[in-house]
Amino acid sequence: MTASPVQTSHTRPRTIAYIVGSARSGSTLLGMLLGNHPECFAMGEMDSLGSYLSRAKSPNALCTCGRMLDECPFWKAVLVRAQELLKETGIAQDLAMLRERPLNRQYGTGLFDTNIHGFHPSWIHTAMHRAALLAATSLPHCASRLTLRRFGGRYRKAAENSLFWYGIISQVSERPVVLDCGKGVLRMLALGACAPGPLKVIHLIRDGRGQAASMKRATRQDVATSARRWVRGNRRIMRMYGRMDASNVCRVSYEALCRDPRATLEVLYAFLGCRAFHEGEWQRALTLEKTSSHMLGGNPMRFRNDERTIAPDERWRDELSEDELRRFQNVKGAREMLELCR
Ligand SMILES: [Zn+2]
Repeated sequence: MTASPVQTSHTRPRTIAYIVGSARSGSTLLGMLLGNHPECFAMGEMDSLGSYLSRAKSPNALCTCGRMLDECPFWKAVLVRAQELLKETGIAQDLAMLRERPLNRQYGTGLFDTNIHGFHPSWIHTAMHRAALLAATSLPHCASRLTLRRFGGRYRKAAENSLFWYGIISQVSERPVVLDCGKGVLRMLALGACAPGPLKVIHLIRDGRGQAASMKRATRQDVATSARRWVRGNRRIMRMYGRMDASNVCRVSYEALCRDPRATLEVLYAFLGCRAFHEGEWQRALTLEKTSSHMLGGNPMRFRNDERTIAPDERWRDELSEDELRRFQNVKGAREMLELCR
């Protein structure tokens, strides 16, 4: 029997690391900084791979180096290696052919279907996604595992496909740690269930008042609603990784990262099993070299090449009124959660 490409052990990275957290938590910034370590490759968001490879020439489909994937030297090498690997393992799949097939909206096809979160082509997909997430995160552990096993085939498939690509990314970049900045909790669960080794989870938490101000700006969402969602989302994440081995989980705050990036990164390097830096390496480690990184998806700051230093976004201090701040803090659980963001 021919081995499946996702089962070939020589393509596995030593460590798969995953950033989990709410939207607008600073995961692009953290990913970019961790990707400055010579042992860690920050690939951006694996959920986006299929849509990036679709033929749409959209500015949203640019790698951080500023090129389309077809023109980016790194992703081109990844595609070539994938093709070679498929031949070696006897899998009769032609990547070029797969890519030519029309994509089902934002979903990829075959091995390019790595999308666990977002971009649902119909309300049925959205409803199924919500049901799976609810089952996985609300039911007792054994029941949620059973539900995912029985009904979560699509998520498992997308996670297995992701493992295939993480392996190739590790090989081509020659870095043993591959970092996915995806943020979603369902991907964390699906990877945790499928990854051959321990999944290293980084919970990135950001002061919810920053997220509330950002939502107010974008959608005029009420701060109390933002606060409730922020508390609920982070509680759900914590409940989920509470089931994991504590040595595979590390929580960091956006505020601590911006205040003392070096101290935060030192903790994370050790957590990921990466060597410590010597003094002379730190300046480069703390500089945002956007044109030389190759991340998919994330915050638009990834394209602003003039922003090369770490500048915390604390606009909420000016944008939220005293009344709004009070209403935020009065939401049940908000004060305790804010304590974690110091
Ligand atoms: Zn690139």
